[in-house]
Amino acid sequence: MQQRPIYLDCHATTPIDERVLEAMLPYFTERFGNAASVGHLYGWEAEAAVKKSREMLAIAIHASPEEIIFTSGATEANNLAIKGVAEANFQRGRHIITVVTEHNAVLDPCRYLQSLGFDVTFLPVQTDGLINLADLERAFRPDTILVSIMAANNEIGVLQPLSTIGAMCRERQILFHTDAAQAIGKIPLDVEMMKVDLMSLTTHKVYGPKGIGALFVRRRNPRVHLAPQLHGGGHERGLRSGTLYTPQIVGFAKAVELAIAEMSSETQRLIYLRDRLWQKLSQLEDIDLNGHPTQRLPGNLNVSVSGVDGQALHLGLQPVMAVSSGAACTSAQITPSHVLRALGRSEELAYASIRFGIGRFNSEMEIDQAAAWAITTIQSLRQMTKSHIH
Ligand SMILES: *Cc1c(COP(=O)(O)O)cnc(C)c1O
Repeated sequence: MQQRPIYLDCHATTPIDERVLEAMLPYFTERFGNAASVGHLYGWEAEAAVKKSREMLAIAIHASPEEIIFTSGATEANNLAIKGVAEANFQRGRHIITVVTEHNAVLDPCRYLQSLGFDVTFLPVQTDGLINLADLERAFRPDTILVSIMAANNEIGVLQPLSTIGAMCRERQILFHTDAAQAIGKIPLDVEMMKVDLMSLTTHKVYGPKGIGALFVRRRNPRVHLAPQLHGGGHERGLRSGTLYTPQIVGFAKAVELAIAEMSSETQRLIYLRDRLWQKLSQLEDIDLNGHPTQRLPGNLNVSVSGVDGQALHLGLQPVMAVSSGAACTSAQITPSHVLRALGRSEELAYASIRFGIGRFNSEMEIDQAAAWAITTIQSLRQMTKSHIH
């Protein structure tokens, strides 16, 4: 049987940890009740499981349980945050600030709001992927109602300075939303300390199930006003109707609990593997790191390779490792990554980029094998290009 490629795409998704699966299983079968149907034992069991999970998640980000609104993931949480704030606050102002390197789940709701007449400022980033705080300072207007800036970038792993941004927004009484899909369970998050008013979460990037996430919505100092985007049974304080998906919620909380408990040792291990991979790859000439060298997620390495064709590079890597390229597939069209372009990389270099997402289940041997294969592939492609020229 052919061996499966080494999985190094942990920013796209991760496998469910066995311990998470084990916690979820009873809620598919004997404890299948509806958490909103509490006239009997079945409902109480589901309600109790949801309550416990909500408490766990609140503790994870220093919020209170009633501030956690379950959604289908970070995409829905971002939509609820951005469109919900815009709809509930447009009489105060119609200006929103975000960043060009955000995930499309933030950029697209912002563009949609533009089509309705809102004004959106898309801040640029510096060559290291960080925003320039002076740019943010200049972008504030009297009619700004929301700032949306991600915690950790899904392509280059760069960590934006949330506490500083939060303080700048709070000072001006502007709501601060952060997409923390890549950050939860990987770096410490504290909505009080960071002065975050809305935070989007998901769990399938930290060994939890797909199809579940949450939006933190601050209820005091200040109380965030939000218009629901799904109307129905009035679940989740009227902000998100729909029967709660108990097994996924249990898995979400378990995955986050485990990730936080193991964060310090896991961070050390991932940084070791990431640095080891980079040490090997950087022995090649003309290979460059994308994003800030240290202010980034522990398991992220994103590199651009000069002198090779992007498509050929990824075809060459594919049999041995599962990684992402600097190409994005949007509506059947292949475009170069908007994040790498924002760093100033050319289209050609963006295509010839590799995103390694190292995770909990990768071993040192896998890293060494991946590095060796990537080096061989790049060297042979460069050799071929040279022999074509001469
Ligand atoms: C994965 C991801 C999302 C989308 O999350 P889903 O839960 O899959 O909807 C949004 N933002 C960022 C930064 C992500 O990495």
